[in-house]
Amino acid sequence: MVPQWSGGGPLGLTLGAVKASPQSQLRLLELADLDAELARLNHRRRSLPEVAELARLEARASELKDEVVITETELSDLAREQSRAERDVEQVRARIDRDRARLDAGQVSAARELATLQSEIESLRRRQGDLEEIVLELMERWEGLVSRRDELATERDRLGTEMTELADRRDAAFTEIDEQAGKANEQRGGVAAEVPADLLKLYEQIRDARGVGAAMLRAGRCEGCHLTLNTVDLNLIRASAPDEVLRCEECRRILVRTPESGL
Ligand SMILES: [Zn+2]
Repeated sequence: MVPQWSGGGPLGLTLGAVKASPQSQLRLLELADLDAELARLNHRRRSLPEVAELARLEARASELKDEVVITETELSDLAREQSRAERDVEQVRARIDRDRARLDAGQVSAARELATLQSEIESLRRRQGDLEEIVLELMERWEGLVSRRDELATERDRLGTEMTELADRRDAAFTEIDEQAGKANEQRGGVAAEVPADLLKLYEQIRDARGVGAAMLRAGRCEGCHLTLNTVDLNLIRASAPDEVLRCEECRRILVRTPESGL
């Protein structure tokens, strides 16, 4: 795409249609400085380390939240399993008590029935032992999960504090940057008000396309791209009227003449 301002004058050194007084052209250098300052501030705002660090911590906080939910679910499943196991132990224990009561009351006298009852009590005790083992295992898993949940909660709290501190630091930096940007913008408004509309429009078109809209010609060199102009071009510039708006052929910025231009 060829930007409309590239039409230029003879040899592409001038911008043709737009003419502006040397004073107006000098204003462009102030504008370029302020625009560079604003771009620096904008970049600083976007690349604050606090912003990246906060994003990292937020991602971790969201992971933590999921892990807490998983642990809570496991805990409630385990609680159900535990009470089922405890109920089973109770049932077996009650049956043993009943059988023992029958034995103690002397309700069973036949030798065969007695033997059956005693063997039932023995197998119930084994069953009770197995079930109690399960209850113990469940308790150990419960304790493990509870301490896992506590660790997650501690990390979540620590993360929360860290994020609050970071957000405070980020906001303080934002405030400082925005204050500086506010001042620069205000200054820029003042300078821009003194630049003729057509020149300002041209400057802004170039700035939007190239990043920087104007540069000083200092000692025969474009301060924007550091190209040293050849004698032919310098002679052309010397011959140009002061209100001619020039541009650097290399970086296409508006090239502003000053007493330091070496002409
Ligand atoms: Zn240049």
